[in-house]
Amino acid sequence: MLNKLISNILPYMPQKLVWQFSKDYIAGETIDDAVQAALKLNEEGILTTIDVLGEFIKNLDEAEANKNEYLEVIEKAEKANVKGNYSLKPTFFGLLIDKEVAYKHIREVVEKAASYNNFVRIDMEDTPCTDMEIDIFRRIKEEFPENVGLVLQSYLKRTHQDIKNLKDLHSEEVPLNFRLCKGIYVEPASLAYKKYDEINQHFLEDIELMIKEGMYPAIATHDKPVIEGSYKLLEKYNYPKEKYEFQMLYGVTPALRKSVLDAGHTMRVYVPFGQHWFGYCTRRVKENPSMAMVIIKAIFFKG
Ligand SMILES: Cc1cc2nc3c(=O)[nH]c(=O)nc-3n(C[C@H](O)[C@H](O)[C@H](O)COP(=O)(O)OP(=O)(O)OC[C@H]3O[C@@H](n4cnc5c(N)ncnc54)[C@H](O)[C@@H]3O)c2cc1C
Repeated sequence: MLNKLISNILPYMPQKLVWQFSKDYIAGETIDDAVQAALKLNEEGILTTIDVLGEFIKNLDEAEANKNEYLEVIEKAEKANVKGNYSLKPTFFGLLIDKEVAYKHIREVVEKAASYNNFVRIDMEDTPCTDMEIDIFRRIKEEFPENVGLVLQSYLKRTHQDIKNLKDLHSEEVPLNFRLCKGIYVEPASLAYKKYDEINQHFLEDIELMIKEGMYPAIATHDKPVIEGSYKLLEKYNYPKEKYEFQMLYGVTPALRKSVLDAGHTMRVYVPFGQHWFGYCTRRVKENPSMAMVIIKAIFFKG
């Protein structure tokens, strides 16, 4: 109840107040902010993946502008020698307005990253987008085998099968590269596991399948039991360090992040930035009202 109430009033709260809890999780408003944050993480031995935050777009002009912003991000990050790649959300490029236009924009962003021998991760959004996002990934992966990866969500009942279905795109020379996360959207019980233990169990089963197939898992979690379960699997299969990585969100669980890094694993941090941070934060809380407790804690405990 309280969470729902907060998620409803949040959009009317002063942006300055909301910034107090957001600033630890968002790199800033400009490309330069993101590049600086990424370089700082690089100094700690952490790789990055930069993401431009966006509201749902209303027309294809916005999709075009967003594509141009990504091209600029890549240009600036590469010139600054950031050690990292890029993540994007297909709806930001018009997926829900015109799938073909979104495909063309995403393809162009991947082409740009490929010109620097770099890589773009296609984030996974909610289930109305899943098939379309897998399809776009498939088409682009065929053209740029080394420069694109996809996110899969362990809470979705279909994910294990999706990994198997995509196996035809895998080879030993250019392995499939999947980021596995739990999944952030509120999905119906017919499509998604709901219990913490179930989601974790499927997370580790999906990672094990990727390891057995020789794929490149990017293990994206801040959950200690999942990290420890992943360690056990990596050890069981004696999986080489260059064939996987861990990932975390900017500003989240820095002590745990350091422990993973200190144990000798590759760590990549997701660096979100953009002018639309306020809309992004309030929408995220609306999607997942339990996030509201994070805000309350931040306001009361961090001032
Ligand atoms: C690099 C990266 C990329 C992602 N990309 C996607 C994507 O494309 N699609 C998608 O649906 N989801 C994505 N997610 C989000 C993911 O699905 C989860 O919602 C999120 O990571 C929380 O799950 P968890 O595995 O950390 O476990 P949880 O069980 O949710 O959390 C474990 C613990 O981590 C801490 N924690 C987790 N999240 C936060 C937070 N935001 N602030 C403070 N503490 C926190 C808390 O201490 C919590 O107890 C991504 C996550 C990461 C790390």
